Amino acid sequence: MAIASETHPEKDSAEVTATEKKRWNLNDFDIGKPLGRGKFGHVYLAREKRSNHIVALKVLFKSQLKQSQVEHQLRREVEIQSHLRNPNILRLYGYFYDQKRVYLILEYAAKGELYKELQRCKYFNEKRAATYVASLARALIYCHGKHVIHRDIKPENLLVGAQGELKIADFGWSVHTFNRRRTMCGTLDYLPPEMVESVEHDATVDIWSLGVLCYEFLYGVPPFEAKEHSDTYRRIMLVDLKFPSKPVVSSSGKDLISQMLVKDSSERLPLHKVLEHPWIVQNADPSGIYKL
Ligand code: ATP
Ligand code: MG
Repeated sequence: MAIASETHPEKDSAEVTATEKKRWNLNDFDIGKPLGRGKFGHVYLAREKRSNHIVALKVLFKSQLKQSQVEHQLRREVEIQSHLRNPNILRLYGYFYDQKRVYLILEYAAKGELYKELQRCKYFNEKRAATYVASLARALIYCHGKHVIHRDIKPENLLVGAQGELKIADFGWSVHTFNRRRTMCGTLDYLPPEMVESVEHDATVDIWSLGVLCYEFLYGVPPFEAKEHSDTYRRIMLVDLKFPSKPVVSSSGKDLISQMLVKDSSERLPLHKVLEHPWIVQNADPSGIYKL
């Protein structure tokens, strides 16, 4: 694989050594069909000419980024996502820009958005839901181990790879729980208890989101949905969790959801325990791939 991040030419790119840092430009790519439109631009299928590697090229307009004041958010997204290496996290290989646009070189997720798949099926069976929840739990454990909290886990931000594997995309709302210096030092040794604790504390937001997602996979709608914004807010605050009789979900599945959707964040089932929960053990495909 000849593609390496401009900011981080790592070992996995044998052809790009530290001394010949690759600076990408549009001429390096053959542009193919549009894959979709985002808020700030378009995404195209593309081929890197030298390696023939297929990627998704996300083209963002600087003017729109400026107007919406999201340049900082984009920088953070690029910084965080380009350093993550996990089979269930969409790779960001690198970026480049010209006068008008910023281009992100992304891993291509051949089967598109999970959101569309969920709409098509209405809801997933328990094997499929559990397989997805397990792969997301593993990916989030990996992120949290790197002090990254995603904070925006939802079907719209999940893409599906060629084999049917889930890929977490869109790190626009993610944060590093430590500042840059601490992250680079990578040591906890000098942190006081409340800061050590706050790392885990904050990461529990992703457990809650995974609980919401698990519910949505199984029932086709998120758990606290309501007509009015204020009602959804109230239902979340009360953790007004109800399980409809249809579609039928095993009591074990409902138990897992109930253990993730807990108001007191320190009481939410930790992600490694999610992986050990009987519903996951019995239903999730160990390959992490749900075969259609
Ligand atoms: P934003 O997240 O910036 O608000 P968005 O979510 O609307 O914008 P994206 O998710 O980045 O935009 O991309 C728009 C669409 O392009 C997606 O919904 C998806 O269908 C397609 N797409 C984006 N990235 C990829 C990819 N790596 N592989 C395949 N399809 C993709
Ligand atoms: Mg998106």
